[in-house]
Amino acid sequence: MILPLIKGLALTLKRFLNPSTCATVQYPEVRPKLASRFRGLPELQIGKDGREKCVACGLCAKACPSGCIYVEGAEDETHRRYPKTYELDAFRCIFCGFCEEACPVRAIILRDTFELSTYKNNQVFDKEKLLGLTRKRDLLKR
Ligand code: SF4
Ligand code: SF4
Repeated sequence: MILPLIKGLALTLKRFLNPSTCATVQYPEVRPKLASRFRGLPELQIGKDGREKCVACGLCAKACPSGCIYVEGAEDETHRRYPKTYELDAFRCIFCGFCEEACPVRAIILRDTFELSTYKNNQVFDKEKLLGLTRKRDLLKR
């Protein structure tokens, strides 16, 4: 009876004396360490030319089991295809990663964006918002 109590108190004392072993994270000041295979919101990637990598092939939308991606392609003056419209409904996304696997140019990658709570009744990310997540990440790296 007394042994489990002592064990519990010993553990508390150990954690108290060595805060680095604590499981509590002071979020949002400190971001929790996520597993390396964590899958957050899919983000559109930016190429070396500063433009979106996406060529609007639509494979991600076809592969998506919850039908939460809408892509409408267009061609610029150099005949390069780009997504005129790219929308991703975060409320419907199940973070399966099929879109990332289907993309032939690695233009969409699930990273660690998990802060998706909102008071709105929809959470549709358009192209600029999805590219913005990648831009912000690149700025933080510098
Ligand atoms: S992670 Fe899955 S559900 Fe979410 S957009 Fe990609 S394919 Fe669709
Ligand atoms: S993100 Fe990839 S798979 Fe989806 S439309 Fe763009 S290029 Fe195609």
